Amino acid sequence: SAKSAGRKQFLFYSADIESKLQLHRMLEANLVDALANKAFEVFYQPKINVLDGKIVGTEALVRWRQPDGSLTNPASFIPLAEETGLIIPLGKLVLAQAFKQASVWQQQGFDLRVAVNISVVQFEDDNFLAMLDEIVRETGVTASLIEMEITESLLVKDVERVNSIFAALNTRGFRIALDDFGTGYSNLSYIKNFPFDVLKIDQSFVRNMLGSQVDQNIIQAIIQLAQGMNLRLIAEGVETIEHVQALQAMGCEVMQGFYYSPPLPLADFNRLLTRRISLPE
Ligand code: C2E
Ligand code: MG
Ligand code: MG
Ligand code: MG
Repeated sequence: SAKSAGRKQFLFYSADIESKLQLHRMLEANLVDALANKAFEVFYQPKINVLDGKIVGTEALVRWRQPDGSLTNPASFIPLAEETGLIIPLGKLVLAQAFKQASVWQQQGFDLRVAVNISVVQFEDDNFLAMLDEIVRETGVTASLIEMEITESLLVKDVERVNSIFAALNTRGFRIALDDFGTGYSNLSYIKNFPFDVLKIDQSFVRNMLGSQVDQNIIQAIIQLAQGMNLRLIAEGVETIEHVQALQAMGCEVMQGFYYSPPLPLADFNRLLTRRISLPE
C-alpha cells in the first residue's frame, strides 16, 4: 500500500518493528472486543491469618477468558491496556465486580477485606473518585472493606495530587495498601508521608528468602518497619510450608500465595470460604 511504501523511506524501517506494531494493534482490537463481550473475569485469591487459619481477605485479580476457554494472565495485557487507556473501563469493571462481591460477602456475614489493584493510569484519571462514588452507590459497599493496592511508582508522581486523592479515599473510608513493597523507588520517606494501612512484602523477597540471607534481612527490615509504623503486613508469593514457617518466625501473620490457594474463580473461592474445600494447615 501507499502507506507502507511511505514508511519504507525511513532509514529505521524494519519488518520487525512493523510486525510488532501489527501485533500491538491486533491485541488492542482484541482487548476492545473482549470488553464488549464481557470476556474479563475476576478471580479471588485468599489472604490467610496463619495464627488461626482464617481467610481475612481476598485480592481481586483480573483474567481474560479466551474463546477456547483458556485464561490469559494480566501480565500480558495490562501494560497495553494502560498504554491505550483501556485500563479505565477494564479497571471499572473489576472495581464494580469486587465492590458488589464485597457487599454480598458482608451481607452473608463474612468478615472479609477485598483488595483491588489500581494502576497509576487509573489513579491519575480525573474521573477516578467520581467513578468510585458511583460504584459505591450502586453496590452499597462499605468502603472500609475495600483495600486499594497501589505501587511505589505512583508515589513519584505529582505528590500533592496523589496526596489529595489519598485524603479523599481516606475520607470515604477506603484502605490503601502498598503492593510489591521494596521493589520500587524505596524512598522510605514515602511511607512516612502517605497514609497507608498495609504493606505487602513483594513475592521476589519471599521467593528468595530461604536461600538468601540478604532477602531474609530485607523481609525482617520490612516487618520491623511495618510494626514500628503500626501498619498491617502481608507477605505475597508464599508457596511452601517453609516460607510460612520462616515468615511467621519473623513476625508476619498474614499470607497470600499458592501454598494456600491460587487465585480462584468466584464459585471456587466461595466454596473455600464456606469450607467445602479446605486449606492446608
Ligand atoms: P500483584 O497485584 O502483585 O498480584 C500478585 C500476583 O502474584 C498475581 O498475578 C497472583 O496470581 C500471583 N501470585 C499469587 N500467589 C503467588 C505465588 O505463590 N507464587 C507466584 N509465583 N505468584 C503468585 P496475576 O494475577 O497474574 O497479576 C499480575 C499483576 O497484574 C498483579 O500483580 C497486578 O499488578 C496486575 N493486576 C491484576 N489484576 C489487576 C486489575 O484488576 N487491575 C489492575 N490495574 N492490575 C491488575
Ligand atoms: Mg496486588
Ligand atoms: Mg504484588
Ligand atoms: Mg505486581
